[in-house]
Amino acid sequence: MKKIPLIAGNWKMNKSNSEAIKFIETLSQRIDSFKGLIYLAVPFTCIQEAAKVSDKIIIGAQNMNDAQKGAFTGEIAALMLKEVGAKFVILGHSERRQLFHESDEFIHKKVLRAIKDGLQPILCIGETLQEREEQMTEDVLKSQLQKALKDLSNEDLFNLIIAYEPIWAIGTGKSATANIAQEAHLFIRNTLTNLFDENVAQKIYILYGGSVNADNINSLMQEPDIDGVLVGGASLEVESFLKIIKNLG
Ligand code: PEP
Repeated sequence: MKKIPLIAGNWKMNKSNSEAIKFIETLSQRIDSFKGLIYLAVPFTCIQEAAKVSDKIIIGAQNMNDAQKGAFTGEIAALMLKEVGAKFVILGHSERRQLFHESDEFIHKKVLRAIKDGLQPILCIGETLQEREEQMTEDVLKSQLQKALKDLSNEDLFNLIIAYEPIWAIGTGKSATANIAQEAHLFIRNTLTNLFDENVAQKIYILYGGSVNADNINSLMQEPDIDGVLVGGASLEVESFLKIIKNLG
């Protein structure tokens, strides 16, 4: 059964605090009739103010450390994010894995910490172009899931979101076709069914991310295992984000 659609925007290292507030105020005036869930992962510096002005939009972070506190210069803890109004956190984004060398083990520790300290994780997984061409996609997805979700209970999983983000589709303008995305989402759901209760695997949100825009959103959302989308570039302008929201379902 189709779930209430969920759209999550990931602003990455874009927007000052004042730009964020202006965006959220403008968007908020135009989403009254939208029945789905809207998440926005904003820079750390915008979380507090963004959460204050957001009524329908759920504000979250793009990263955090796995420790609760301590001598980790430049890092940020889940409890700090939560206190200023973050409800969720993106973990394991491919930019963090590739540019900042985050390992599956580190991401696993962050997932555990986010759950323990009350932030909803959006766990990103996905293969590179080379891995896809070498028919490694399923092995990569399975391994990333097994490692990131190790030691999690069925209850933990209820509050977790998975984002399938093929790396070759992120920021390239080359979205996966709806068929390719559905195939990966079904594989992810089946893997979750093997690791957890079937009921939990069915209920978990699996988002697609990678060059989502107003033109491809309809076909992606027709697919039975695509429960929503994670949007980077097109979430930076109110108009382009709204066009996707309006076509989400
Ligand atoms: C992302 O970075 O998570 C993403 C999906 O980016 P884009 O929509 O720009 O491909």
